[in-house]
Amino acid sequence: MNTDILHRRLTMMQEAMLREGVDCFVAAPSVNMQYLTGFVEPAHERFMALLVPAEGEPVLIVPALSAESARQEAFGVGEIRVWEDHEGVDPVLREVAQEMDLAAAIIAIDEELPALFLLKLQQILPTALYRPGTEIWAAARIRKDEDELWHITQASRYADNAFAAGLALCAAGNTEREVACAIQAEIEAQGAEMAFGLPIVAAGKHSAQPHYRTTNTVLHPGDVVLMDYGARLNGYNSDMTRTVCIGEATPEIQKIYRIVYDAHYAARAAVKPGVTAESVDAAARAVIEKAGYDKFFVHRTGHGIGLSVHEPPYIVQGNKQILEEGMCFSVEPGIYLPGRFGVRIENVVVVTADGCRSLNAEPPPHIREIG
Ligand code: ZN
Ligand code: ZN
Repeated sequence: MNTDILHRRLTMMQEAMLREGVDCFVAAPSVNMQYLTGFVEPAHERFMALLVPAEGEPVLIVPALSAESARQEAFGVGEIRVWEDHEGVDPVLREVAQEMDLAAAIIAIDEELPALFLLKLQQILPTALYRPGTEIWAAARIRKDEDELWHITQASRYADNAFAAGLALCAAGNTEREVACAIQAEIEAQGAEMAFGLPIVAAGKHSAQPHYRTTNTVLHPGDVVLMDYGARLNGYNSDMTRTVCIGEATPEIQKIYRIVYDAHYAARAAVKPGVTAESVDAAARAVIEKAGYDKFFVHRTGHGIGLSVHEPPYIVQGNKQILEEGMCFSVEPGIYLPGRFGVRIENVVVVTADGCRSLNAEPPPHIREIG
């Protein structure tokens, strides 16, 4: 891991902490720890956290069994403090808290910090003030550096590449799960993982449930099939949705697809540095509203993506966040007709100097009819 990059990331977060009046940010053994040190292990019952002071070097607290991994893999950390199973974390945590002078500190908490770890902090530091830490990490992570963009672009390419494998199984008689497994196998064959588990493959009326969970439902002629999935490479995620039809699509299905398609591109045309996140949502919504389907567009237009599948900036009404070059987010308008069918088209884009660039292949302008 390039320590210059890590140092830049730490500086951005510490600037945000000074701005927000935060004395310490506690990063969970999750994406924020990875972002700041290159090291991460899944959280378990043993306390592990990166304590980032507003000024000075972060301290990584790890249980003994993770010490060697941390020494090998964590960079940009001032100190690694190790606690033994038979002692518990309390003595080490008390020491670090004293050295950092946290007794009356304002401590920002990574939302992925396990509740048990927060309770431990509150027990050791009962007079500190605790608040959510989203603004602190988002101030840095919201703009992607070159290395991050490379990974998200690559993950998007893997997802695009896997689509043909899913399409090949989109046929009457096959099941949603068979289609999903074919996509997953193709992503894994390229050396990546899944961004958020098994692909969503929603056939027929299931496609009207935006966050449907794939089952063994059999595909039938005339079914709309919505596929939503992503690949993950070195922790960086992609996310895409395509909607197709088994056999011939009715005029209504064709019409709805075309509205969503136009909304998708209207949103992308609205993206450039200096505009608000909500203005991108408004651009997609205007197309769907004009067609009379606004009450069937039941979610925001998109979400930031990076080390988390969903992260700032959220492309939603009310979000005045100004878009900047290097921000990366999904554009995924949809129309869902309950009990009948739904259409969503999702690409991930990155904000460029004068607009945005899609990291996914382009969707076709008319719904794809298979077979
Ligand atoms: Zn998405
Ligand atoms: Zn998605």
